[in-house]
Amino acid sequence: MYYIDPHIHMVSRTTDDYETLARMGCVAMSEPAFWAGFDRGSAESFHDYFRQLTDFERQRAGQFGLQHYTWLCINAKEAENVSLSREVIAMIPEFLDTPGVLGIGEIGLNKNTKNEATIFLEHLELAVKYDQQILIHTPHLEDKYTGTRMILDMLCDDTRLDRSRVLVDHVEEHTIRSVLEEGFWAGMTLYPVSKCTPERAVDMIEMHGAERLLVNSAGDWGPSKPTAVPDFIIAMRRRGHPESLIRKVVYDNPREFFSQSENFDFAPPELDEAEANL
Ligand SMILES: [Zn+2]
Repeated sequence: MYYIDPHIHMVSRTTDDYETLARMGCVAMSEPAFWAGFDRGSAESFHDYFRQLTDFERQRAGQFGLQHYTWLCINAKEAENVSLSREVIAMIPEFLDTPGVLGIGEIGLNKNTKNEATIFLEHLELAVKYDQQILIHTPHLEDKYTGTRMILDMLCDDTRLDRSRVLVDHVEEHTIRSVLEEGFWAGMTLYPVSKCTPERAVDMIEMHGAERLLVNSAGDWGPSKPTAVPDFIIAMRRRGHPESLIRKVVYDNPREFFSQSENFDFAPPELDEAEANL
């Protein structure tokens, strides 16, 4: 089955991973800007990173027939440095017309601090000013519930935002309901050690339906599995869900969400007749 991975950090992955993803049916991916594992020292460092995301990584994916899209921001961990964050935010507009740039992300909170919230709000201003879609990282483990609530409150306070153009990622059982009820898209991240397993993602589909729900691998430089979306496809089949529902979650939904960005120039693969009739 063809699928799109809406959240994966390919700069951290090998060329072999691209080849494996292509073999497993991945046709496109989107890569939010994230933390490099260390705090970067200057805005120039981010400038180079954005060039890597918008140029080299897109080419590297293309060699395997994969369509690569990206999101730009300074992540929540580095948002503690407010002056650096402002320099990076000021630089982002020069990249927003670049092919493949879908919007601002992954912004959000990490430890739910005041500085993180300040920079989150400044990213929202940027998104509104340039009419961009938004992809949001919610915090880990013990910070997730409070952080998600803080994020939703900040988003809901801004009446200029079109909620159907905002994806709140890394939802779990205790946060998914409020994200969907407020009218946002929700992303479930399939991780081997934290976040969500494929089976728990299937549970959440069974409880909440498949509208405005996405699944992703969030593969990066840490313990993660770039082929986690195919694992989800198999887990859905094992529970007896129809192919049409599986395809909605892994292919139609990301396509629908991303299509709200002018830079989503996706060329769909030819579906074989059996799949097209689902
Ligand atoms: Zn990420």
